[in-house]
Amino acid sequence: MSWFTEKWTPNINFSVRIKSHIYSETTPFQQLEVYDSYELGRFFTLDGIMMANEKDEFIYHEMIVHTPMSVNPGIQNVLVIGGGDGGSVRELTRYPSIEKIDMVEIDESVVRACQKHFQITTTGLTDPRVSMKFEDGLLYVKNTEKIYDLIIVDSTDPIGPGEGLFTIEFYQNCYRILAKDGILINQHESPYFDKESQEMKRAHQKITSLFPIAKVYQAFIPTYPSGHWLFGFASKKYDPIKDFKGSKIEELGYPTKYYNSDVHKGSFGLPNYVKEKLVKI
Ligand code: SAM
Repeated sequence: MSWFTEKWTPNINFSVRIKSHIYSETTPFQQLEVYDSYELGRFFTLDGIMMANEKDEFIYHEMIVHTPMSVNPGIQNVLVIGGGDGGSVRELTRYPSIEKIDMVEIDESVVRACQKHFQITTTGLTDPRVSMKFEDGLLYVKNTEKIYDLIIVDSTDPIGPGEGLFTIEFYQNCYRILAKDGILINQHESPYFDKESQEMKRAHQKITSLFPIAKVYQAFIPTYPSGHWLFGFASKKYDPIKDFKGSKIEELGYPTKYYNSDVHKGSFGLPNYVKEKLVKI
């Protein structure tokens, strides 16, 4: 019997019984594995950390995309940093009003491996509005002169190639290339275990120092450490609750499995211990 085991803390492991080990590659940036499992279907890992699985990927990808799109349905130009599995792009391509999606992923191997072995998330990548660039997101935001309405930072944790995507320099450049009413969404780690909680605090401190509106919202993602995961919503103009226009994706007639208007509003209601951590930095 084979198991994939991810170390959540020095004292807690998360294990998944696997049917088969489908693919393995040492890319120039990280170790990539794809597995098939009994309960979660296919999943892939980067440097031993589960990125996405067939059973719960919808939660992360719906929450990272539909939340900003329902606050400013006028979004036309979008930048996705990371997100090599294509899940965020898939959700974005559901909006006919979006004109251009640039996806900047450091590791082309992630995209190619997902297109072959983890196709549930890759369906939007061939949409003609999507341009893929394989480079470091930190350098891209530093050098580009393009202006975006929405930036989605769909990154790995701040170790290895993802480290630069949690720096003040990165957030400053995101601010610079966002339109006057631009929105920045980032995967914001987790409040529960110490390691992710420290990263959450550091990211929040940097983002609040730059953006007039900087909120945090949550989702329940069973396969991420502790299951309690956060996203950052930072904006130059829009408040995610006051300016919420109702679920735009519902209006368009696309079925969602997690996101809806109630979830949108409720997701910004944080537990006290999380609020305290975000204030006492
Ligand atoms: N939804 C999943 C999650 O949150 O765990 C998947 C995240 S997605 C796979 C993260 C992607 O970010 C990876 O494919 C990784 O290669 C990419 N990435 C990491 N550092 C990056 C950087 N500096 N620039 C661009 N992409 C980066």
